[in-house]
Amino acid sequence: MNIPEKDDKAINEIAAHYREILRLIGEDPDREGLVKTPMRAAKAIYDITSGYRKDPEEIVSQAIFEHSGSRIVVVKDIEFYSMCEHHILPFFGKIAVGYLPKDKMIGLSKLARIVDCFARRLQVQERLTAQVCDLLARTLPNDGVIVACDAGHLCMKMRGVEKQESSTVTYDYTGRFVEDYSLREEFLSFIK
Ligand code: ZN
Repeated sequence: MNIPEKDDKAINEIAAHYREILRLIGEDPDREGLVKTPMRAAKAIYDITSGYRKDPEEIVSQAIFEHSGSRIVVVKDIEFYSMCEHHILPFFGKIAVGYLPKDKMIGLSKLARIVDCFARRLQVQERLTAQVCDLLARTLPNDGVIVACDAGHLCMKMRGVEKQESSTVTYDYTGRFVEDYSLREEFLSFIK
């Protein structure tokens, strides 16, 4: 990838825009508590969107190991934090990944890095779920991949559109999970 991991010029420009935003919402960007805020906010948003500057396929390729079993492998409760692309407000929750191995397996800690790589971008929950599923289906030898994502959206909660306790669940699956309903049931029983 051509985009550098850290780009001071970009961060400085983002900070200048944040300063303008503060002024336009009716704040005084020069008051003591806010003087350093544009730069802090710029560094934060740059970090929160670091997924644009990472290559998910590279993460997978570094973490594939031999595996003789063919039974379902499930990794659940992978915590993530993302930003909705419609309001640039956080949505966050947990992702569970299941797959049917085909002579290979993926290192467990790498699954969390893959989720981060897609979550740390402007996203919609459906696409985040689909991208994790699609990447694994394409790059890890398998007979099927299934991904479930359960998240709460601050753009809905803060504005009162959604009840405080409610959450959104999305699924995606490929391979034998498409044909075999009982395999999907098995996965869901694991992640309950
Ligand atoms: Zn939103």
